[in-house]
Formats: sequence, C-alpha cells, structure tokens
Amino acid sequence: MRLGVFGGTFNPIHYGHLRAAEEARERIALEKVIFVPSASPPLKSGDLADVEHRFLMTAMAVQQNEYFEISDIECRKPEKSYTVTTARVLRQEHPDAEIFFILGVDAFMEIPQWHEPDELIRLIDFIIIGRPTMRFASLVRSPYLDVNPGELEGLDRGTGEALAATLEGGRKAVLLGIPLLDISSTAIRALIGEGRSIKYLLPEKVESFIMSNRLYMYKQ
Ligand code: ATP
Repeated sequence: MRLGVFGGTFNPIHYGHLRAAEEARERIALEKVIFVPSASPPLKSGDLADVEHRFLMTAMAVQQNEYFEISDIECRKPEKSYTVTTARVLRQEHPDAEIFFILGVDAFMEIPQWHEPDELIRLIDFIIIGRPTMRFASLVRSPYLDVNPGELEGLDRGTGEALAATLEGGRKAVLLGIPLLDISSTAIRALIGEGRSIKYLLPEKVESFIMSNRLYMYKQ
C-alpha cells in the first residue's frame, strides 16, 4: 500500500493544498492521503488560529474527497509537534506501507532546521511539489538531494513532469511538477484582514466557518 501524508499548519487550508494532494494521489497512485494539521509548529509563530479551529476546517475540506483523511496525531498533544515523531508513529501504524510525505519545495528546503532531520530523511519517502514562490531549481542547495540543475530547470518550465531522485541515505524523492495554484494561507489571512473577499481560494464550507467564527479579522 502507498500512503500519502500531507502535514501543514493549514491556517487555513485552501485549494492549493487540496489540489496538490489530489495530483499527488492520482499520479503516484496513493491509496489515500492523510492530512496532519500541526499543533504548535516550532518554526511558525504569529497569527495562528486555535488548533481546534484549524483541525475542524481541515476536516471539512477533506470530507469532500473519499481518498482524503485527517489525523489528529500532531494535535492531540499540547507540546510542540515534530515531523520525525509523526513519521515514526505512522511507520509503526502502517508497517507494510510505502509512506510518502507530500510537501512543497519551500517546506523541503526547511528540513535541515527541523528536529532530527537526518533521521527523518532516512525514515520515509517524499513527494516534492513546486511552489510559485520557490521553484525546483532551489533544490540544488538541498543537502539531501543530488540532482542535475538542468533537469530541475526543465521541471520548472513544464507543468506535468515528474523526476525520481534518491535521497541521502537511500529513500525515494519524487519531484512532481503540477500546475501551480498561487494561493497561500498568508495571502488569505491578509485578504481577510483587509476586509476583502476570499471566495474561490478555499472550500465554501471553510470560508463560512472563518466568517462565522471571525477568524483572522485584524489588520496585517
Ligand atoms: P503560510 O502561508 O501560512 O506559510 P501555506 O499556505 O504555505 O501557509 P502550510 O500549511 O504552511 O501552508 O503548508 C503546508 C504544505 O503545503 C507545505 O508543504 C507547503 O509547501 C504546501 N503548500 C502550501 N500552499 C501550496 C500551494 N498553493 N500549492 C502547493 N503546495 C502548497
């Protein structure tokens, strides 16, 4: 079985996340994608909605796809959540599965600052997707990947290519070119702060939840 795991703050979840997960599921033939909202991410601070709210919004969004699930593995405990701990638990829970962490190039480039990064890289496989703000070419600076800069630039130029690479330690990394949706949670929070519309950037149910709970309604 192939499992996708999509971690994030989901502050709030949006169509960029959902579309990336769906592309990865279909193209890498993942049986399901588990969304893992983080409780208190060690590297993010500031305008973070309550974990209960972020969890509920993510649950509402994934409900609309039969292949998507949500896990409270990182938010059932109040202490800081580390991806490496999540990877260990998932390995134990699914001993026979191939587990792929799905993440953007931006997040992959931050791994050296995460807790026990070398251990994480040896524990699970990765699906890395492009972001408008950080293209695949940035991966030449990653200490965990040795890929040809020309091939990375090729991926950045196209929209449908995939490249298989091997990580330091032997695990797989699939670099997946997908049509990029230039949506971020930061931009959505900024729009709300300015009193502007966030329609068509995220599921309607999530939008209604944000409005009725008055989330993110302050000036940025
Ligand atoms: P913020 O703007 O608050 O930093 P974000 O929109 O980048 O948030 P996160 O919850 O931090 O969202 O991201 C979780 C994962 O989703 C990361 O791996 C990130 O690279 C990826 N991601 C976020 N937005 C997109 C998008 N538009 N397309 C593809 N992947 C995305």
